[in-house]
Amino acid sequence: MKHSPLLCCCLTAACLLPLPALAGKAGAHVHGTASLQVAIDGQTLTLNLETPLENLLGFEHAPRTDKQKAAVRAMSERLSQPGELFSPSPAAQCTSVSVALDSPVLKPARQPAGDDHADLDGEFVFRCAAPEALRTLDVGLFQHFPKLRSVDVQVAGPRGQSAARLSPQQRRLAW
Ligand SMILES: [Zn+2]
Repeated sequence: MKHSPLLCCCLTAACLLPLPALAGKAGAHVHGTASLQVAIDGQTLTLNLETPLENLLGFEHAPRTDKQKAAVRAMSERLSQPGELFSPSPAAQCTSVSVALDSPVLKPARQPAGDDHADLDGEFVFRCAAPEALRTLDVGLFQHFPKLRSVDVQVAGPRGQSAARLSPQQRRLAW
């Protein structure tokens, strides 16, 4: 994906300003916002989260202090328990089958240099015994990561495609 020249501004103080034109675009690195792709295919529910590390850790560089290293471990453990972060419709009987996390801070051999911005990508796969009952998804990320202020969601499933913006006040996605 080709990055817009506008994104270069994110390295300056402009990153702190709201950028409405970019807010809804998947892949844009804007602190406070994240994107979530929801795909329903048969019994498989796949969630792809892309977020600046700032939202999860409060920093984006390689962890230096013991406190920062502990924060990275805590984040990784938290995200490895998707049942607390994502609650599909109970009637759909979904269970977590896999979690894959990708971020520079999780790869000691490839730590980001300097003060560059960095993201975390997470893929969360659930298997649902009764996928026809899958109508909502409660997103619990806001309780655990208070720096996260909004999540732009795109849903693709048997009922077509839809989009929504979640916030601490609106944590339930319905389709
Ligand atoms: Zn950043």
